[in-house]
Amino acid sequence: MTERVRPSDKIRCDACPVLCYIAEGRSGACDRYANHEGELVRLDPLTIIDRTDEAVPFLETGPDWDGDIVQSSRPFVTAIGAGTTYPDYKPAPFIVSQEVEGADMITVVTEGIFSYCGVKVKIDTDRHIGEERAVVRVDGEPIGHVMTSEYGSRMLSLGGVDHLTGGSKKEGRVTCDALLGLCNLEPVEMTIDEGATLTVQAGQPPVIDGERERLMRVGCGSAAIGMFAAQWKDNVDEVVVVDDHITGVLSEHQAGRLLDIPPTGIKVAGRKSTPGRYFQVAEPGTGWGGTNVTDPLSILKPVDPKVAWPGLKLLMVSTTGEQWAYYELDDQLNPVPAEITTALRASTERIAENCEPSLCSVLFMGGAGGSLRAGVTENPVGLTKSVKAMLTRVTCGGAPAYVWPGGGITVMADVTQMPTNAFGYVPTPALVAPIEFTMRLEDYAALGGHMDKVRRVEDVITPEIRRVKG
Ligand code: SF4
Repeated sequence: MTERVRPSDKIRCDACPVLCYIAEGRSGACDRYANHEGELVRLDPLTIIDRTDEAVPFLETGPDWDGDIVQSSRPFVTAIGAGTTYPDYKPAPFIVSQEVEGADMITVVTEGIFSYCGVKVKIDTDRHIGEERAVVRVDGEPIGHVMTSEYGSRMLSLGGVDHLTGGSKKEGRVTCDALLGLCNLEPVEMTIDEGATLTVQAGQPPVIDGERERLMRVGCGSAAIGMFAAQWKDNVDEVVVVDDHITGVLSEHQAGRLLDIPPTGIKVAGRKSTPGRYFQVAEPGTGWGGTNVTDPLSILKPVDPKVAWPGLKLLMVSTTGEQWAYYELDDQLNPVPAEITTALRASTERIAENCEPSLCSVLFMGGAGGSLRAGVTENPVGLTKSVKAMLTRVTCGGAPAYVWPGGGITVMADVTQMPTNAFGYVPTPALVAPIEFTMRLEDYAALGGHMDKVRRVEDVITPEIRRVKG
């Protein structure tokens, strides 16, 4: 790992292409390695995940193993603090053997340097944060874009090689900083072109234009009608659930028809899709149900005087139940605000009660199907085949990784499932992410593994390691 270039005080770190010369008592450009009395040391301790309360549990026999090496009661050696290898032909820093229920298992751990990586961010909100394809920026630099919306959530795709290496030096540095913060569970402020300002933090509610989001919608307007129609039947004549995607109208909706709710003559703007389901009743925004509506009456058209009647009771509500308004039609069939009944008010609270807390989710996504494989095996394609055949399990800092179908080993993992500060960076720029490959000993030998570098787990676990609860 080290190569002294001067007998004086500087040593060279060769753990990444930057090849820092580090003076005694100083750290390298990434703050991950330092020169300690002439020795190159990794500053963060190796981290193991430990599910037991025992002080030294790794040699003990626990309850029956269910096949999950990370979630078993045995310590799991993660790649966090393991160190990187560069160039890649060198074996991974730790290749650890461990007996699990009579089976000899191997875990190959390394901190991968990922130039090809990014994050997918899910933001639980209906509020309009920006148009699909709009650019997401940090400090004015483009770091990604808005993707297609999902059910009750907005999605961002951030990072990737085009932002890390394909733009200006500053774009790459800012992108790397933002990814590092997001992956290490820190809040990151970002703006969307012609859209909102966001603060995103994994596992926390999003802050959108300065407002902390509380609830994820219960469903679209049509779904909400379907869910609560029976509770509204005897308490109100008409309900309109305002939603940017599908606004629901109770009396027209199939749920209302099956419950024999009569037509009311209440009409909403927008494009009718199917009975009781309307698209585009307003513009997207940060108002009711992800629309720009602040006054719900603005989406009503004149009532049908042949059908409506004075005294008709109308509830308008958003998809989170946070906004609601109650009206009764006067003698001219105009909706007039009125006092809501206790039962009807309870129905809006029931909507809110059924909404889940709004959170930001951050999934690290990286390609481990390239040169990193050489640290695992002399025949890199053997690892790819082993992963695809499900003989090798991939984890990131102990968190289960979803492996995409198709070519390569493209993985996604939830950063909140990993120990804190699992990620680092190098100034090339690239993210440093933990990755572990676990398989049976015989499978490791069969794929051309570095068998001469295998170490017993008890030789790896030292007093300096960091233990975290699994
Ligand atoms: S940036 Fe970090 S890993 Fe790369 S050479 Fe410098 S100290 Fe080593």
